[in-house]
Amino acid sequence: SVAIVLFTGDLRLHDHPPLRAALAAADEVVPLFVADQAIEQAGFLVPNRAAFLADCLADLDAGLRRRGGRLVLRHGDVVEEVCRVAAQTDAREVHLAAGPSGYAHRREQRLRDALAAGGGPQRRLVVHDGVAHVVAPGEVTPGSKDHFAVFTPYLRQWSGQALRAVGAAPRVVRVPDGVQGEPLPERSRVAGVSPGLARGGEDAARARLSAWLRDGLDAYEERHDDMAGDATSRLSPHLHFGTLSPVECVRRARERGGAGAEAFVRQVAWRDFHHQVLAARPQCATEDYRSRGDRWRGAGDGDGAADDVAAWREGRTGYPIVDAAMRQLAHEGWMHNRGRLLAASFLAKTLYVDWRVGARHFLDLLVDGDVANNQLNWQWVAGTGTDTRPNRVLNPLLQARRYDPDGAYVRRWVPELRDVVGRPVHEPWRLPEEQRAALDYPAPIAELSASLDRFRRARGRG
Ligand code: FAD
Repeated sequence: SVAIVLFTGDLRLHDHPPLRAALAAADEVVPLFVADQAIEQAGFLVPNRAAFLADCLADLDAGLRRRGGRLVLRHGDVVEEVCRVAAQTDAREVHLAAGPSGYAHRREQRLRDALAAGGGPQRRLVVHDGVAHVVAPGEVTPGSKDHFAVFTPYLRQWSGQALRAVGAAPRVVRVPDGVQGEPLPERSRVAGVSPGLARGGEDAARARLSAWLRDGLDAYEERHDDMAGDATSRLSPHLHFGTLSPVECVRRARERGGAGAEAFVRQVAWRDFHHQVLAARPQCATEDYRSRGDRWRGAGDGDGAADDVAAWREGRTGYPIVDAAMRQLAHEGWMHNRGRLLAASFLAKTLYVDWRVGARHFLDLLVDGDVANNQLNWQWVAGTGTDTRPNRVLNPLLQARRYDPDGAYVRRWVPELRDVVGRPVHEPWRLPEEQRAALDYPAPIAELSASLDRFRRARGRG
């Protein structure tokens, strides 16, 4: 008998419940990945994520080959391709991880209908929860509501859930003969990739996790906001592409224990939190979760907003900490969480530009770019989401002094300021005129107190 495992955002062999179930149910398994035309046409597969995905697929294929199998890649409509492979191999089961997005739900529904239709032999779709999450969306809810809107009570419930055991990678995967696949994409053929983009794939992910647990976890609580120290796990792209199991991350961190582990696990819970919000409110990918009556400036507005947005995107706002963060994003396709917070706050609250403009730019570059976590973190910062302090504005200067006290992060990412010693690097406009004039670095594009007034007036608070 044959079963199909449809890989989506779960590109790994370790701790993979759909693969395990398929291997238990059938003698032969088709590990299938469909380069889904709907996702490609939606513009979601930007160069950084396309390149990282190519690494992940190559590594998944290599892992399967070491076990006697291979990855079958097809292009086209995901439902049609699954049905085609099912008919060709007479597969009776299709195993798939549940996804939190509206798109994933529709895909499941269409697959279920298509497999049941046609009058042929019975084919079953099995959807597995808890592959991409520690706690799947909808698994814990507050009373009669369909999702948690506040993180702290969510975390309490989330932390109390029993974790399933972590499954080992299979030893052997037998793939039926004659299933046609197409060549895998190659990272080197993707144009427009950030020069410092990390490498993807399960091997890289597992190596990163082990190194992180050994060398980084213990100091995480103290050091996670030290921008120059770069002391966070950098596991986000691996979690996004599912080359790591979040359950395994949490279990192994808890085994190690301590305050660092607790703080890290709490961050992983944020990921599930946003996914359960988006699963219950899919429209929040584009609409305010809670409207505050904002009349944002748009990227195309004629009041200088277009120039402001361009300066923000290119990292030349004249606020070094914001510019450093934006340049890290361009260079690596990744940004430190503190940078994301203050760069997003600067766009939404200081420049008063629509959060969707910023969220789009982040999604165009972030290798971990994820609709739930990106859009809902943007909304959190803009004060239209689940933040309990929606009108708070992060002051980029205070943030810089606190989270990059010596200016090392700024000097790393803004070469024009590399020779400015110490803290003055955060306020180049205060440097002696002669020194200032010699720097090829712009003056601030916005004045902080006037910007704060505009925001407060907009929110009816000043
Ligand atoms: P660590 O600090 O080591 O945390 C461990 C893991 O916890 C991360 O890998 C991530 O999976 C999860 N996590 C941490 N913080 C958050 C958070 N605030 N929300 C959700 N999950 C979190 N994260 C994404 O994965 N994709 C995005 O598209 C994304 N966009 C963001 C946009 C903005 C404006 C902001 C403020 C945050 C965004 N984040 C996003 C959350 C967070 O910044 C990143 O997950 C984190 O910086 C990744 O680095 P790390 O793996 O070293 O994190």
